[in-house]
Amino acid sequence: MKLIFERSRPGARCELLPPCDVPAAEWTIPLRATPPRLPELSEIDLSRHYTALAKEAHGVNDGFYPLGSCTMKYNPRINEEMAALPGFTGLHPLQPIETVQGALEVLSTAEELFCEITGMDAMSFQPAAGAHGEFTGLLLMKAYHDSRQDTARTKILVPDAAHGTNPASAAMAGYTVVSIPSNEKGCVNLDALRAAVGPDTAGLMLTNPNTVGLFDENILEITQIIHDAGGLCYYDGANLNAVMGIVRPGDMGFDVVHLNLHKTFSTPHGCGGPGAGPVGCREFLAPFLPVDQAVRQGDGFTLEQSMASIGRVKAFYGNFLVVVRALTYLLTLGREGIPEAAKNAVLNANYLMHLLKDRYQMAFTEGVMHEFVITLEEEKKQSGISAMDVAKAMLDYGIHPPTMYFPLIVHEALMVEPTETESRETLEEAAQILHEIIDRAHNEPEALHQSPKRTCIGRPDEVAAARQPRLRYLFPLN
Ligand SMILES: *Cc1c(COP(=O)(O)O)cnc(C)c1O
Repeated sequence: MKLIFERSRPGARCELLPPCDVPAAEWTIPLRATPPRLPELSEIDLSRHYTALAKEAHGVNDGFYPLGSCTMKYNPRINEEMAALPGFTGLHPLQPIETVQGALEVLSTAEELFCEITGMDAMSFQPAAGAHGEFTGLLLMKAYHDSRQDTARTKILVPDAAHGTNPASAAMAGYTVVSIPSNEKGCVNLDALRAAVGPDTAGLMLTNPNTVGLFDENILEITQIIHDAGGLCYYDGANLNAVMGIVRPGDMGFDVVHLNLHKTFSTPHGCGGPGAGPVGCREFLAPFLPVDQAVRQGDGFTLEQSMASIGRVKAFYGNFLVVVRALTYLLTLGREGIPEAAKNAVLNANYLMHLLKDRYQMAFTEGVMHEFVITLEEEKKQSGISAMDVAKAMLDYGIHPPTMYFPLIVHEALMVEPTETESRETLEEAAQILHEIIDRAHNEPEALHQSPKRTCIGRPDEVAAARQPRLRYLFPLN
């Protein structure tokens, strides 16, 4: 496919600027010596270029997208309609407070509902993503320990199955990361946890269900061990889709929580689009939350700044329109729809696992929640077919591959998360395709190594793509 620079034709234009209807300014902007080398295209060529590009991408609206750990559910269009209301999109964050009462009501209502779902007492919507929420939550924990002159707590415990952002956030917040091994069931090894805690423990970061899709039944004991040692418990809420409205992190013993509104609460994501990773906490941590907090006051709303706050982690109030989408989703589904969505997410994952388990080896089968992990370790030894081969073959059938080679504790892993928005027919179709792929793996392994055949890019050199990316167009020398 041609790049936009290669489509450029000198003199082609598509701007439709109206004639100037105000007096020309007295001062002039200094012009650059050489004009920028921008592509020149007519409107139709520009439109075709981006339409062609869009057709090469796979989104939730194109087909099945079982990307484990990412919760690529369908995002109802009504969320977009609400986020596009001019009353929201036309706001300026520095407007007088009496003119933004509706926006503050959105933040305050979303805070109340998400506190109800998580079992927390207060929430900030400033963090822009899950990882950003983790960092913010850890700063809250640090501010708490510091406020009590408890400065010897330098370590954060993180299970070895954790998402990579957990240890990264802990390191960024200035902590030393201690990795806690998993037991044979894929959950936290309690003996290892007990051996690791001490007066230097600042806290624990954990997601439940965890990164292999299992609910850790020892969760109350785990959070108790940390609390007994004087540490705090951080809940990575990226997997809340399996338990929202059913189990609350607060009741599991957690003190701080982040949510991925762009996963669980239905905002389009991927490709770096705006997300939100709001952080909720229990009462005793609330004074440390980022400023400003929208609070109800009489009939209206006001903004409050706590003296003990960790400050700002992002400009103004975070990605506000993502909160509008999430609130729309909450109000649409309601108190019955939210737990029903979680149950269907778990049902769908278990149904698909059931359809596949005779042909694909599962890493764990007990207590599987909203996602499951296939391991092709044995298959690779026997037929040479790897997780990569299966994932690449799926592309030719119009399915986005599952998450590959993650979590790290499972070899040749494919992590599948169908989400609740897929129909039974879609799951059965996907299972049939995966059966066909494993048949082909045995009958024509060479062809499978060559797949995909129908995409514009097949198997790029992944190391070169990561290490020597070509991120800008190199103009031909003339
Ligand atoms: C996605 C994810 C994160 C990070 O969230 P981002 O919004 O991508 O920063 C953290 N933990 C888990 C378990 C996740 O799946």
